[in-house]
Amino acid sequence: MSQKAIRTVLVVEDNHGDARLLREMFHEHEPGGTELTHVECMCEAETHLADRKVDIILLDLGLPDAQGLEAVRRAHAAAPRVPMVVLTGLDDESLAAQALQQGAQDYLIKGQIETRGLLRALRYAIERKVMEEALFVEKERAQVTLKCIGDAVVCTDVTGMLTFLNPVAERMTGWSWQEAAGLPMADVLRIVDDTTRETIPNPMELAVGQNRSMHLPPNCILVRRDGLGIPIEDSVSPIHNREGQVSGAVIVFRDVSAAREMVLQMTHSAQHDFLTGLPNRMLLNDRVSQAIALATRNQKRLAVLFLDLDGFKHINDSLGHSIGDKLLQSVTNRLVGCVRGTDTVSRQGGDEFVVLLSEIGLSEDAALSARRILQAVAEAHSLDQHDLHITTSIGVSVYPDDGLDSETLIKNADTAMYQAKEQGRQSYRFFKPAMNVRAVERQSIEESLRRALDRHEFTVYYQPKINLRAGEISGAEALLRWTHPVRGPISPAEFIPVAEDSGLILPIGNWVLREACKQARAWLDAGLHLGTMAVNISAMEFRDDDFLDGVFSILKETGLQPQSLELELTESVLMKRTESTESILKALRANGVQLAIDDFGTGYSSLSYLRKFPVDALKIDQSFVRQITTSPDDTTIVTAVVSMGRSLELRVVAEGVETAQELAFLQSLQCDQAQGYYFSRPVLPHKFARLLQTGILTAVVN
Ligand code: C2E
Ligand code: MG
Ligand code: MG
Repeated sequence: MSQKAIRTVLVVEDNHGDARLLREMFHEHEPGGTELTHVECMCEAETHLADRKVDIILLDLGLPDAQGLEAVRRAHAAAPRVPMVVLTGLDDESLAAQALQQGAQDYLIKGQIETRGLLRALRYAIERKVMEEALFVEKERAQVTLKCIGDAVVCTDVTGMLTFLNPVAERMTGWSWQEAAGLPMADVLRIVDDTTRETIPNPMELAVGQNRSMHLPPNCILVRRDGLGIPIEDSVSPIHNREGQVSGAVIVFRDVSAAREMVLQMTHSAQHDFLTGLPNRMLLNDRVSQAIALATRNQKRLAVLFLDLDGFKHINDSLGHSIGDKLLQSVTNRLVGCVRGTDTVSRQGGDEFVVLLSEIGLSEDAALSARRILQAVAEAHSLDQHDLHITTSIGVSVYPDDGLDSETLIKNADTAMYQAKEQGRQSYRFFKPAMNVRAVERQSIEESLRRALDRHEFTVYYQPKINLRAGEISGAEALLRWTHPVRGPISPAEFIPVAEDSGLILPIGNWVLREACKQARAWLDAGLHLGTMAVNISAMEFRDDDFLDGVFSILKETGLQPQSLELELTESVLMKRTESTESILKALRANGVQLAIDDFGTGYSSLSYLRKFPVDALKIDQSFVRQITTSPDDTTIVTAVVSMGRSLELRVVAEGVETAQELAFLQSLQCDQAQGYYFSRPVLPHKFARLLQTGILTAVVN
C-alpha cells in the first residue's frame, strides 16, 4: 500500500497541554505539512465531522461529554469511514483494547508518545482502515452473490457439520439457516438416486476426503424436508484454510426439474406419434422386443396385428386433411379401447397402425381381438357433422410361430394384411409362411422378366373370336406367352401382375401391340379375312403419357388401319381419373380404333360409364359363362348383360366358351360373338392362319 501523506487530522482532546504537544510533533515532522484541527469535546467533533473530511481522528477517551467506549462509538458513528487512534492513560490499556473492537484502529498511551511512533501509528491505522473497508466490500459482495444467485449453496466444516445455507438452499431443503447450522449435512441434504431411491454416498465427505472438486452422479433427487423430491445437479468443492488444509466443503446445486422435464418431453416426442400420441415405430420395436423376452421366459405367445384402413386416402382427398386427421384420432381411440392396458397400440404412419398383444394363450385370442377391432373401427365416426364410415384390414403374426424378432413379426403381419386386403376388405388374415414364398417367387419373376424381351422369350398367341350369327371368325385376341428359360411356360395370370407392378408392362405391352399389328397386317396382305385384332391394355399402359402416341405410331409403322385394331380395357381402367380417360378414348375412337371392355361384370359394372364413354363392345367374363352349365337356372346375369349390351347398342362378346351347351344358350340369347376353347385355344400364328383359311369353325357353330 502506498504511503499516503497525512493531510488533515482531527484531535479531540480536552487537555490543552496534550493537544499542543501533538501539534508540535506534527510541526516537527513536516512544518505546515499537516492541517491539525483541535476540538475539546465530542459535540464539537461531531459538528466538525458533519461537514468536513479528515484523514484520521485522534481521540481522547476522557472527554467532558463522552467517556471511554461511548466516545469511540460516537466518533465512529459520526465518521464510520475515518480511521481512529485513541489516546489513553497508562492504566487504561484494557479499555484501549475494547476500543479496538468498537472500530478504532490503534491506541497510543499518553506520556509515551514521540513523533516517529505517532506518525507510524497513524499511517498504519489509515492502512488498516483501507484494508478493512476492502474486506467489508468483498464480504458484502459475496453475501449478496450468495443471496441472489439461483443456485443453492451449502457449506460444511471439515467434520461435515453445516456452517452455511443460502436462501435458495433454504428453500430447496426446507430448512432455515438457523435451524440447520451445526447439524450433520446428511440430516438436511438428503440426496437419493432417482431410480433406486437409495441414498447416495455423502458428496461432502468424498470431496473433503479426496481433497478435490466433484459432481453428484447423474439422476439425483434431493428429498426436501416435507418429502418432495427435486431433481438436482451439483458440484462439491473442498474449502482450504490459510495453511492450505481442508477446512470444509461447499456444495452448489440447482433444481433441474425443468431441464429434466424437457429431456423427458423430447424423449416422448421422439418415441410417439405427433397426431395421435401413440407410440411410434421406434417405441413399438422396443415394446415388441420386450414382450418377446417376457413371452420366452413365461413360455407364452404374443401377436402383432398390422392394420391398414380401407379407402382412407379417398376420405382424405375428398373431405380434407383435417377431417382425415380427426378420423385417425377417432380410430386411435377405438383401437385403444379394444385392447388391454398392457398391450401397445402404435401408429406406423399414414393410415397404418400396429397393435401388440403382449401376452396371448392361443392364436385364437388374437383372432378375437382382430374381430373386435374390425367391428369397433367400422362403427360410424361422428366428426364435424359428418358420420364417417371406414373399415380396416388386419394381418396377424404370432410369436414364435411367425417370427422370432420384432422386425420379422411386423413384416409378416404386414404381408398378411395385404392378403386380407386382396381377399376382400374389412377382414383379418393370419400370416402363412406360403405368403413369403409367394413374395420371393414374385421377386424372382420380376428379375427374369427384366431380361425376357431382350432374350426373345415372349411369343404372341392368337385366339379367334367367332361371329355367332355368321358362324365365322370375326377377329383375333392377341395373348402373350412367356417361356422362362428354366421354368418353362409361365401363365400371364402370374407374370402380367408382376409386370404391371414393376412398370415392365410398358415396354412389354408396346412389343405385343407392335407384334399383333404386324401380324394382322401380314394376314390381310395375304388375303385372309381377319376382322379386328384385339390387344389387351393394362391400366398402367393406358395411364402412360405416351400411350396415345405409341398406338398411333405403331399403326402407322405397321400400316394397319385403325379400324382393324381393338383395344381391350378392364373396367377399373375406366373408373379412374375419368376426365383424362374420356379424352383418350375419344381420341382413339375418332381415329377409328375399337374399344372393348374386358372381364365385364367382375369389377364395378357401373352403367353410367358405359353411357359416358365411347365403347364398342362388352366382353362377358368367363365366370358368368361358366354359370350357364354349373347352375343352368341361374343364368340371369348373362341374360341381363346381353340384353343390356344390346339396348346400349354395344357388341356383346362371351369369353371362355367351352361347351356346346354354353354356346347354345348364348345363341339363344342372340349374343353377338364368342371366344373359347370350344372353338379354339390360343394358337401360334401359322395355326391361326390355317383356321382363317379353312374356316373350319363354321361347322362347329352351325
Ligand atoms: P383376358 O384378356 O380375359 O384373356 C382371356 C383369357 O382366357 C386368356 O388367358 C385365354 O387363354 C383364356 N381363355 C380363352 N378361352 C378360354 C376357355 O374356353 N376356357 C378357359 N378356362 N380359359 C379361356 P391367358 O392367355 O392366360 O391370359 C390371361 C389374362 O392375362 C388375359 O385375360 C389378360 O388380361 C392378360 N393378358 C394376356 N396377354 C396380355 C397382354 O399382351 N397384355 C396385357 N396387358 N394383358 C395380357
Ligand atoms: Mg382380353
Ligand atoms: Mg377377359
